[in-house]
Amino acid sequence: MGDPVHIRESGPRSDLAGGLVMVDLRALRSNYRALSKVAGRARVAGVVKADAYGLGIAEVVPALAAEGCDTFFVATADEGIATRRAAPNARVFVLNGLFSEDAAALFAAHRLTPVLSGALDIAIWERHCATHDSDRACCLQVDTGLNRLGLTVQQARAFAADNALTRAVEPVLVMSHLACGDERDHPLNRRQLEAFGAVRAAFPGVPASLANSSGLLLGRGYHFDIVRPGIAVYGGAPSSGVKMKTVVTAEARVLQVRRAQVGEAVSYGATHLLDRDTLVAVAAVGYADGLPRSSSGSGVPLRGVLPGGFGSIKGRRVPILGRVTMDLTMFDVTDLGPDAVAAGDFIQLFGTDLPIDEAARSAGTIAYELLTGLSRRFTRFHVGMEEQPQA
Ligand SMILES: *Cc1c(COP(=O)(O)O)cnc(C)c1O
Repeated sequence: MGDPVHIRESGPRSDLAGGLVMVDLRALRSNYRALSKVAGRARVAGVVKADAYGLGIAEVVPALAAEGCDTFFVATADEGIATRRAAPNARVFVLNGLFSEDAAALFAAHRLTPVLSGALDIAIWERHCATHDSDRACCLQVDTGLNRLGLTVQQARAFAADNALTRAVEPVLVMSHLACGDERDHPLNRRQLEAFGAVRAAFPGVPASLANSSGLLLGRGYHFDIVRPGIAVYGGAPSSGVKMKTVVTAEARVLQVRRAQVGEAVSYGATHLLDRDTLVAVAAVGYADGLPRSSSGSGVPLRGVLPGGFGSIKGRRVPILGRVTMDLTMFDVTDLGPDAVAAGDFIQLFGTDLPIDEAARSAGTIAYELLTGLSRRFTRFHVGMEEQPQA
């Protein structure tokens, strides 16, 4: 017998909710450990932006901290504050940076480290550091080919050469982000690596970070001092063919099973005409719960290029019939037999029986979007919580 497994339940009561989300923190920790092995000497940070990809900062951050993770990346100051609450001593980098003086004061109060990406936030942080006796630490983000946030390589070198500036603020990390890390042979990977090498040389002694999940798999040359895997920790495939342990399973409740006749239509627009007598399971999940409308079985433009979405019940695939609606979706359960599915059963949307990357592909999207869109109307179970100290 192992230790008892602690489960935290949150959100609406499970007997009243239209669906359930299981987050297996043991699998998450195992993924983190596997990535740490690949990272070798590089430190593995936790990327917990967007409430840990929808899984919950309050649960994910302590799980990663228990594996020794002491550096986190978030997008916004709010997420930074939540992360600070869950990891009192960790370094917390805020990727979207500063956009006001008030923000700088808030960052200092919560010991958040701003990621500076342009002249505006550098000026704000410099002014803040000149007038306050707080931590001057910051991260410099350099754009090496994504054209998202970041200084140009030239601006970064000018920064490094500006002695007054480098005395006023204290860069503790220089980072950049890959555009095509999931395409191993894309020529932009090498070009970004070379550009980043030039930036790094301008900041001797300052730790450097380039790789996200897929970048981590491109090899040692991409690791530098800190790697920043997100999706792979949460169980998504960082590159095609690479399997991680399943962390999240989402299931929707069947509210009703209907018998529909050949020739009848299903859902809005009557776009799906039944070509046989059909058992239709109506499930309590819709696009308001993060099931993309583009996973409709028919009747949305993407249907022309995609096979349409499906769920899984008792290990069998069940196709979506017609359009996904706001709160309800219809599934064809005919092939499971006349009495196999009943009201109260659950249809898996992705997870242990249906890889999230496959579910995403059938909707024309990516695992990231399915995770971050996960319904707050579903009951959540975090399995494998650290034992809570007695209050
Ligand atoms: C989201 C993000 C990551 C993590 O990316 P994954 O593809 O989820 O591993 C790393 N770095 C930055 C700057 C990011 O925005």
